[in-house]
Amino acid sequence: MTRNCADVAVVGGGILGLAHAYMAAKHGRSVVVFERGMRAQGASVRNFGMIWPIGQPPGPMHDIALRSRSLWLEVLEWSMLPYLPTGSLHVVYREDEKAVVQEFCELTRGSGYECSWLDSDEVLSRSHAVRPEGLLGGLWSPIELTVDPRLILWQLPEFLASQFGIQFCYGTVVRSIDLPLVEAGTQRWEVQSAIVCSGDDFETLYPDLFAGSGINRCKLQMMRTRPQPGGWQLGPSLASGLTLRFYSSFSICKTLERLKLRITDETPEYDHWVIHGLVSQTAGGELTLGDSHEYGHSVDIFDKPKIDELIIRYIGTFLRAPNLEIAQRWHGVYSRHPQKPFVSMNPADGVRIVTAVGGSGMTLSFGLAEKTVHEMGL
Ligand SMILES: Cc1cc2nc3c(=O)[nH]c(=O)nc-3n(C[C@H](O)[C@H](O)[C@H](O)COP(=O)(O)OP(=O)(O)OC[C@H]3O[C@@H](n4cnc5c(N)ncnc54)[C@H](O)[C@@H]3O)c2cc1C
Repeated sequence: MTRNCADVAVVGGGILGLAHAYMAAKHGRSVVVFERGMRAQGASVRNFGMIWPIGQPPGPMHDIALRSRSLWLEVLEWSMLPYLPTGSLHVVYREDEKAVVQEFCELTRGSGYECSWLDSDEVLSRSHAVRPEGLLGGLWSPIELTVDPRLILWQLPEFLASQFGIQFCYGTVVRSIDLPLVEAGTQRWEVQSAIVCSGDDFETLYPDLFAGSGINRCKLQMMRTRPQPGGWQLGPSLASGLTLRFYSSFSICKTLERLKLRITDETPEYDHWVIHGLVSQTAGGELTLGDSHEYGHSVDIFDKPKIDELIIRYIGTFLRAPNLEIAQRWHGVYSRHPQKPFVSMNPADGVRIVTAVGGSGMTLSFGLAEKTVHEMGL
């Protein structure tokens, strides 16, 4: 058995693991990252790639999201990995949706959101991908970024290795942490600190702590089209009326209740599967479409064609794109806490678990990593 040394061990090669590795290395620490798969395969390569501060509620979480966005830009520029400063558009076709968006603009004025109400002509001049029939307007925000999650998760490690000398051990499960010793696959490492970003794996490390934490899982169904012909560009990533009842940012709006009641009454199946319509575009020109939410500790391995149908039907009400033929279908699973926006635990001196970022892990990753590294004194 070989024995190696580093200042910091990071468990998990998803976006939280990479962000923590980056922040620790930027502070001059030597870092080793362990990832079970031969490359990242968890939630971080299965998402929309939306860096989405508009989904975070005013206050500390929105501040972390904005800081995270700055750090994303720093690392993307430095590594020369592609991203699109697309901004976001929540498009609305119903009066109750318009009321929520307009109230949100009112309530958040001057608090860092930089968003504005656009009438239908203004929406259509910003996006050729939005259906004009019945469009009332939309919420425009210039802040959101889009990355291609698979490309970033599979290429960022190369940059981190070459720029900072971070070591990546793929195909290597961390079996135990008893500082200074970390047992990983057939290797033994001596480290000063460990950061566990194991996503929805609650069984391998600290199972007792996870069992009492209230953290559970959420399964999401997703689809991807073929590349759009002729270099067609989506422009701003699109969200819609159903999205307004999903992100906690909009829960500050009194008008939201009426919208929620109408959706429950009119389209209960969208409530049952917690479906909302989001559309982003990859570096290769494909459109990523989703998603649904099924909560619980155990995840159904079989996907439900009915859910895909509902998502496609709803997205068809607001999206016009040259080619909506589906090329890929998959599901992703993230860990989440029913009350907390993320979970940070100290199972032992020098060890920190950071997980359960729910549907906002891409957005919050670098901001949370900066916070962890600061709190651990790295
Ligand atoms: C379908 C979908 C769409 C989403 N869309 C967005 C979005 O657009 N914007 C956004 O902000 N967020 C989005 N999210 C949420 C975001 O993807 C997650 O919050 C984030 O990816 C979680 O990152 P992570 O690193 O904690 O987990 P993961 O990406 O799951 O990574 C955890 C890694 O740890 C490894 N691991 C676990 N245990 C061990 C061990 N003992 N030893 C070695 N390796 C181990 C696993 O193999 C895994 O690769 C979405 C999520 C899903 C599922």
